[in-house]
Amino acid sequence: MIAPTTLFALDTLLTDEEREIRNTVRLVCDREIRPQVAGWFEAGELPARELARTLGSLGVLGMHLDGYGCAGMGAVSYGLACLELEAADSGLRSLVSVQGSLAMYAIWKYGSEEQKQEWLPAMAAGERIGCFGLTEPDFGSDPGGMRTTAKREGGDWVLNGTKLWITNGSVSDVAVVWARTDEGVRGFLVPAGTPGFTVNDVKHKISLRASVTSELVLDGVRLPAAAMLPGARGLSGPLGCLNEARFGIVFGAMGAALDCLEATLAYTAQREVFARPLSSYQLTQEKLADMALELGKGLLLAVHLGRLKEAGTLTPEQVSLGKLNNVREALEIARKCRTLLGASGITLEYPVIRHSVNLESVLTYEGTSEIHSLVIGKALTGIPAFK
Ligand SMILES: Cc1cc2nc3c(=O)[nH]c(=O)nc-3n(C[C@H](O)[C@H](O)[C@H](O)COP(=O)(O)OP(=O)(O)OC[C@H]3O[C@@H](n4cnc5c(N)ncnc54)[C@H](O)[C@@H]3O)c2cc1C
Repeated sequence: MIAPTTLFALDTLLTDEEREIRNTVRLVCDREIRPQVAGWFEAGELPARELARTLGSLGVLGMHLDGYGCAGMGAVSYGLACLELEAADSGLRSLVSVQGSLAMYAIWKYGSEEQKQEWLPAMAAGERIGCFGLTEPDFGSDPGGMRTTAKREGGDWVLNGTKLWITNGSVSDVAVVWARTDEGVRGFLVPAGTPGFTVNDVKHKISLRASVTSELVLDGVRLPAAAMLPGARGLSGPLGCLNEARFGIVFGAMGAALDCLEATLAYTAQREVFARPLSSYQLTQEKLADMALELGKGLLLAVHLGRLKEAGTLTPEQVSLGKLNNVREALEIARKCRTLLGASGITLEYPVIRHSVNLESVLTYEGTSEIHSLVIGKALTGIPAFK
């Protein structure tokens, strides 16, 4: 018997340091997260503050950023960390992606020196949590239509509007909020507790239950001029952050798929049907082979994109290729694994159905699969078909 990743000799593509980082993250997930995650999912709760500190000491929060207490690791190392976190649960990887690639990246890339000093070291340590408010109730795939406004009043800015589906919202110390101004879309740092700023959690989720998802309401929120991110102007600001987070998903989705496949390989080896192990049937082996193949191809694509990112040549279209393929295939793998687990596959005793419903969110956030198809279609034809 040979593990799916060994079949593809994936480790030969990684440096010693990258393998070490992956193994360390896996160890922490095995010890501190896996034993509890199904319970958090079932309860629809996440001990986000405690987890953030654990993840901060592990060094994965903003791990691909340089300076300000961040680890300054390469793209593949960051991707492998996302893979291991999402093998535990997509909610956990979402916490890390939003903290590191959306909130911290926005401050790191577009913030003033004072903003960086104030927020980044504490966020890298997991002492403070951030969220990223772009989506609105009426504008998800088309954020350019946003209605949230920021207007100058004297030296201040006054924000009004609503953001929805915001990961980490109610556990955040700071929200990066994107708003329409006279000079185009701009980003603002809104500390929790600012008068006029309220946060309500989204209830009754069936997907990503081990993740906090919130609505942010801004009702005459007055901020000093220094709250604006000086380096971001226009939609390219938030889209630049999304590109970072999408890259993590290219690896992360394969982590969820790997966890499903590993659980299914173990299950089919011990489950007897018609007096023989389920794994001994040709129909089963065809499913297992197809899944290992898609998993391996997705991992190879992820590492390739990671190397391009490290070389500084990765394009948004290439990130779209990875996000579209790997989330779609991970979802397919999770569904196929569920069939092999039979009725047991619908319980939280096995991780498969949890990954499967989580991946439904992953398919939608950070650009839906349709939007990524349109990005690739535009690259291939030169014709934008978004509108
Ligand atoms: C669990 C979760 C966490 C999230 N976290 C965050 C967060 O932290 N911050 C944040 O800002 N947002 C977040 N989001 C929001 C997410 O990014 C949006 O849900 C996503 O962009 C899609 O927007 P929408 O839900 O409004 O769907 P819509 O944009 O209304 O899309 C509905 C359908 O229409 C399709 N569609 C849209 N445009 C086109 C087109 N031009 N051609 C063909 N089909 C099209 C879509 O692909 C989709 O199938 C989160 C969402 C979820 C579910």
